[in-house]
Amino acid sequence: MKRLSISRYSIAASLLFALATNAATAGQRVVLPDAVTPAHYRIDFTPNAAALTFKGSVEIDVVVHRATNSIALNAVDLVIDSASLAGESKAPTVSYDKAIETVTLTFDHPLTNGAHTLKLAYHGTIYQSASGLFALDYQDPNVGSKAPLRALFTQFENSDARRFVPCWDEPGIKATFDLSATLPAGLMPLSNMPVASTDALAGGLQRVHFARSPQMSSYLLFFGAGDFERVRRVVDGVDVGIVVKRGDTANAGYALDAASALLPYFNEYFGTPYPLPKLDLIAAPGSSQFFGAMENWGAIFYFEKYLLVDARLSTQADRQAVYNVIAHEMAHQWFGDLVTMAWWDDLWLNEGFASWMANKSTDHFHPEWKVWLQSLTAKHAVMQRDARDGTHPIITPIDDVAQANNAFDDITYTKGEAVIRALEFYVGDSAFRAGVRRYMRDHKYGNTVTDDLWAAIGKESAVPIEQIAHDITRQAGVPMVNMLSSRCDGGKTTLSLNQTHFAIDAGSTTARVWHLPVKVATLGQAPTAIIVSGAAPAQVVTAGCGPAILNAGQGGYLRSRYTHEGLAAIAARYAELSPDDQLGILNDTVSLGNAGELPMADYLDLTRSIPAATDPVVLSTLVGQFEQLDLLYRGLPTQPAFRAYARRVLKPQFVRVGWDVRAGESDNTAILRADLIAALGEFGDPEVIAETRARFARYLAKPAGFDAGARRSLLGRVAAQADQPTWDKLRQMARAAASELERRELYELLGSAESDDLTRQALALVLSSEVPSTIAPNIIRRTAARHPEATLDFAVAHWDKLSTMLEASSAQLFVPRLAGNSTNLKTIETLNAFATGHAPENARQEYVLAIARIRYSAKVRATRLPEVDRWLAVNGSVPP
Ligand SMILES: [Zn+2]
Repeated sequence: MKRLSISRYSIAASLLFALATNAATAGQRVVLPDAVTPAHYRIDFTPNAAALTFKGSVEIDVVVHRATNSIALNAVDLVIDSASLAGESKAPTVSYDKAIETVTLTFDHPLTNGAHTLKLAYHGTIYQSASGLFALDYQDPNVGSKAPLRALFTQFENSDARRFVPCWDEPGIKATFDLSATLPAGLMPLSNMPVASTDALAGGLQRVHFARSPQMSSYLLFFGAGDFERVRRVVDGVDVGIVVKRGDTANAGYALDAASALLPYFNEYFGTPYPLPKLDLIAAPGSSQFFGAMENWGAIFYFEKYLLVDARLSTQADRQAVYNVIAHEMAHQWFGDLVTMAWWDDLWLNEGFASWMANKSTDHFHPEWKVWLQSLTAKHAVMQRDARDGTHPIITPIDDVAQANNAFDDITYTKGEAVIRALEFYVGDSAFRAGVRRYMRDHKYGNTVTDDLWAAIGKESAVPIEQIAHDITRQAGVPMVNMLSSRCDGGKTTLSLNQTHFAIDAGSTTARVWHLPVKVATLGQAPTAIIVSGAAPAQVVTAGCGPAILNAGQGGYLRSRYTHEGLAAIAARYAELSPDDQLGILNDTVSLGNAGELPMADYLDLTRSIPAATDPVVLSTLVGQFEQLDLLYRGLPTQPAFRAYARRVLKPQFVRVGWDVRAGESDNTAILRADLIAALGEFGDPEVIAETRARFARYLAKPAGFDAGARRSLLGRVAAQADQPTWDKLRQMARAAASELERRELYELLGSAESDDLTRQALALVLSSEVPSTIAPNIIRRTAARHPEATLDFAVAHWDKLSTMLEASSAQLFVPRLAGNSTNLKTIETLNAFATGHAPENARQEYVLAIARIRYSAKVRATRLPEVDRWLAVNGSVPP
């Protein structure tokens, strides 16, 4: 699954904070009894889309392993109409346990060991948000019809197949599936496998039988139906299709090209060819508050903005994100679908690996995007969270469905990805790939735990990895490598290093020890690898005598702390560093400066050393850091001085890239341009503010004169600095938008205004009938970025209404996340009071995270910004 997050922070784009986690203490794992297991399901169902209900029947070939009177399956919101076991004359009694989501069939005598067939008839609910079998309604301007169209889909991860069919709904229990459905003729039916046969029925209906699935986990089963079109290409013998709602095929070409390139790459990398006859990538209208895409085997589901590229609306950043999400879900076809974690404890194996593989494959086809360089910013963000209260180890005990829901967080995805990256760096890419191929070969169609991966890689690697892997996956927190001293002698540099634990909250400061591979290098020289562990100094000798760089290439998951002299040497020759090291050192120094581990001056000195021709990704990172600092400065009398300095550093960069796309420039330059416009406008640059107004007038007169990137960045800035007439104009544009995607985009922009009054109006709009309930929560998230306190108060006051707009899986995350940008300790009281009335005690992890973040921001604001002020008083007006 691709959960929603942000990999790069910007006022213009950001809106979601790190996802929830659940540092559950190990309790009793809630699983089904293992006396009976399924081998094969034959499911036949008939949806009534208009009534939002469905009828189903299922025959399940089961195996009874030992004497038992009962068979327990998972089921939620399903009513069993009849139940029987072949060969048994008497029907079992049926009982439900809502708390643990099961239905139990009890017989009046023990069942014999061996094979049986269970038959159930039942009915259930079609939902209107993405869990179980669900409907998405959409207005389709391409068809010209005024009545909304309705499409059906399923979403089962992590534990919602039980809302569709009574089943053994655990990832470790695999079976094969035959699926049949009765539908209106003319709708396109979709499942994991191709349609095997279709019967025409009376009354304009069809009965569709899909081919038998391979052995797989229940959460990967998929069904979809709607007024769709499919564009296709045969690649390596596989029928690859992009499925869109009718009229959208023009936006599918980018995805088809990407999938067609990626499939042979993955076949090669994994060494096991994709095993299904077809692979569909399906674009659904609408959005979820929780996820963007889902890796159903052979039938990948995407909300359309994560799959389709619209030449008029999609920016360079959108194209990169779409490519990356396509690669992520396709990587899951092997890592997750073919080989699956035995239980949710090891979810990171799926998600960390797919995230890493998405970057690796994207980098292969688009090296100019520098996705690894970009990924350093996401790694920095997760390290901040991993250093605070409320973090947890990558491998974390999961007892039940609620905890599994919370496991889809940044630690699972981003730290997971960074750890895979670090291990690949350490063992080398060919040994790592040989290990992955071995793992696929040995475990296909099966289930694994994390140690199975380490064992497979260990067999191919020249260096042992088990201890290193255990240390980083089984304990929470961020290792730090400290440069204790550095000495040059005879053309070589001797470094003394040790390892501590980088933690920024009282609750996270337990000193931890990691066996940590670290690469060190002097400028321009090949790196030397060393294992650093614990506080005892370790000596390493490396070639050359320039500035010494820790974590050279930035492949490790760690913070690097330099001596003051070490950092000054780096600042003096900053322009000569690789972009990876430039960016990594910027992130480490701002983070250590905020934490009081280094003077803020060390970071600020670096920001003055940024040369003109720096990589755009590094500059975008700097922009993001200035925006974060600016958020902390909100309302302080010294904010104008900080903003003046930020403008002085960023403006020459903007002058260099200019307002308009230049022939031959890189995609990342276009992204940087948008970031600079957003930031300089935010920091009050008069020229950017005036030009934004002038360009908006031109845009209104002739929208076609703006490419997608220029349009998005212009509208973002327009919304931020909007006055009443401008805001009204944006609202009018939203009402008249030509497509669902554009309407959503424009309504959300209404929440981006700096103005307090317009923010109140945006929040009032949320309560009106004008804005669809699927868009409203995103407007609230927007207002929270600049106005966290006012937005939180609004959400608390109107919770009864807002909670009806939220998906069950995100309702508990929504309110605490709104407060994440606050620096006001009073916000913590509001959050605690709300949690007491609304969140069960075992579901408050998101509150813990938000409170830790607010407390830390308040502390940095009170204790570290004065240091920035003093530095600015001396250096702020000196041209960088
Ligand atoms: Zn995923």
